Amino acid sequence: MPDMRRMVRVALDVPLRHGFDYLVPDGMGVPVIGSRVRVPFGRRNAVGVVIARPKTSEVPEARLKPVRELLDSQAAIGPEVMKLCRFAAQYYHHPLGEVLSTAMPLKLRQGAAPDALVRSWHLTREGAEQDLDALKRRAPRQAELIRLLLATGEVSEPLPARLKRLVPTLEKRAWLLCEQRVVTPVPPAQAASPGPELSREQATAVRTITSALGRFAGFLLRGVTGSGKTEVYLQSARACLAAGRRVLILVPEISLTPQLVERVRTRLGARVALSHSGLTDSERLAHWRSAKDGAADVVLGTRSAVFAPVPDLGLIIVDEEHDASFKQQDGFRYSARDMALVRARDEAVPIVLGSATPSFEALHQVEESRLDALRLPRRVGVAKPPSARLVDLRQGRLEAGVTTILLDRMRSHLIAGGQVLLFINRRGFAPCLLCESCGWRAECSRCDAALTLHRSAGRMHCHHCDHRASIPLQCPECDAHTLAAVGQGTQRIEETLTRRLPGVAIARLDRDSTRSRGSLERTLDSARRGETKVLIGTQMLAKGHHLPGVTLAAVLDADQGLFGLDFRAQERLAQIITQVAGRSGRGEQAGEVIVQTRFPDHPTLRRLITEGYDAVAADLMEVRRSDGWPPFERLVLFRAEASDAKDALAVLRLARAELESAGIEILGPAPAPMARRAGRHRAQLLLIGSRGRLQTLLRSRLEAVLSLPAAQRARLSIDVDPIELF
Ligand code: ADP
Ligand code: ZN
Ligand code: ZN
Repeated sequence: MPDMRRMVRVALDVPLRHGFDYLVPDGMGVPVIGSRVRVPFGRRNAVGVVIARPKTSEVPEARLKPVRELLDSQAAIGPEVMKLCRFAAQYYHHPLGEVLSTAMPLKLRQGAAPDALVRSWHLTREGAEQDLDALKRRAPRQAELIRLLLATGEVSEPLPARLKRLVPTLEKRAWLLCEQRVVTPVPPAQAASPGPELSREQATAVRTITSALGRFAGFLLRGVTGSGKTEVYLQSARACLAAGRRVLILVPEISLTPQLVERVRTRLGARVALSHSGLTDSERLAHWRSAKDGAADVVLGTRSAVFAPVPDLGLIIVDEEHDASFKQQDGFRYSARDMALVRARDEAVPIVLGSATPSFEALHQVEESRLDALRLPRRVGVAKPPSARLVDLRQGRLEAGVTTILLDRMRSHLIAGGQVLLFINRRGFAPCLLCESCGWRAECSRCDAALTLHRSAGRMHCHHCDHRASIPLQCPECDAHTLAAVGQGTQRIEETLTRRLPGVAIARLDRDSTRSRGSLERTLDSARRGETKVLIGTQMLAKGHHLPGVTLAAVLDADQGLFGLDFRAQERLAQIITQVAGRSGRGEQAGEVIVQTRFPDHPTLRRLITEGYDAVAADLMEVRRSDGWPPFERLVLFRAEASDAKDALAVLRLARAELESAGIEILGPAPAPMARRAGRHRAQLLLIGSRGRLQTLLRSRLEAVLSLPAAQRARLSIDVDPIELF
């Protein structure tokens, strides 16, 4: 039996659900829990996190391999984050090693040194003057490194192992010079600037939140964009910082703008560490390090920042809590919003969830008194709520999806100096290309989906698998030259409006127009300054951008949301319309909202227009309650993917047999709504039941399901609390 101090259990970033035991060789310090180690795994070395120091192992001692390298002297994953990761692994039934790797920047996962000191090397003059050909014969690796340095000027950590080994030799010959730079991504704190005087409602919210500092309390802060929620966050955060504790702020990817960062920085006078996908790997590591060391007062980031290290955490804020981007949709499928609640409870701190259009989950939590609702009634400085109406898409002339009524209203708002915001669900020029002679439709060869026409890029594009194809000149089915673009996309609307509104500055905001770094910011800036008069956009527009000059907001086609396959379709639609509507109106002048639809009598739309989001939410939630859907019951979705449709269904049929259990309803297996995607056949099995029952079932049966021999021929994945059923 190995000596108890000499063994560690390591979680590796692999899809296996158990830890791996290793021996700690003599002379190596004892790795603390949460530190990273490099260990042999199969035929390679892998970086893992120490999760336990077991006394015994199921593996016979003779077969235990030694830890190769201890990478941290202190835990990279501190006890709080470790606890959260363990909870997440259990709740989402996902391998702990993969959960832990979500909690670390890529460089740490690759084994880089955690300190933000980055070493880099450049050539001395002597090094640069070496005869490379001669050197290549003697020492090809050295020549390779010098050639690389001649080309790039310098190389910095981490170097590939084969080059790293050469560095000491070349340094000794004075061919290489090492420089150490401290990476300080976090600018020093300035004096905090005072904010505006708070409204009565804001002051009440701040008082309520700050009186909960030091214990767990959950708040739902309700208010449209521009109603002053961020002011409430900032003032509450300031009180938290003044009490010597730190703040974690989570936002949807798209609303993490330089403006917001700047506002947090200057208003709080705080050092802010960031965590989001726009940072380079080195920046991410450096920011992570400043969070870990406590050099930052505030950690601000998107989804995975919920796992960021925040010593002396005092307050958590989740802005736009209803936003779907808080749920990771592949791999480790977790909800950052839900994990933030768990973290707040574990660390005994208050948490504020903010939204104009709370998720039904949040509303239900308020009903059950698990969250306290705080409300900001209207946009700052706006006296009247916008007036909204439905416009029938079947009446009057339509051009590129814009009715003459809407076009007229746009003209009057533009003449009055207002800005117009048009929301549409689809990017691209038109959803599809159709043959008017034979009905042929351009479809993706790998998915059950139409290709989207992107005329300006001169191609067809599948939005589901990224497949690209050229635009056919004639119908491949009947050879006729009768291909027509059908439906509306952002590009097509932009094109039409440019013709119909000559001289008006129009901009588009979608994933295509904002692909390059900074372009989203530029478009929004120009809209904020009032230069862009008409802004056409997809979902991106419906997120928390504050555009005070908008007086007319329109949803071009509400109908997709009315009859969507997903049980959340109407919730989403109500959220989008409300978010879009919240953008319109300023000062004394009431804003205007137009929703175009072919179903102007639809009860959800009517109620939304006349009574607003709360009324619709109450209606829809009643339906959810009586039908037994979330948030009243919980879901677990099993997905199977295989190259053969039969295999995907077969494994789920067997899974169903394993999972049958009292109090749990099982739907399926059935082909997924998009049965084929990227050439793979997809099927799903849906479990409905109480959270407790589902968790108990998964704990006892999941192992058996995953080890079904049929699971070899299909990729099986599990989604606890799925937000989309596809
Ligand atoms: P939200 O986060 O709800 O979108 P913000 O907090 O960003 O709202 O407020 C919108 C705008 O109104 C900002 O420019 C902000 O500075 C301003 N603002 C917020 N609260 C007040 C207030 N009490 N008095 C004056 N201006 C305010
Ligand atoms: Zn045809
Ligand atoms: Zn495709």
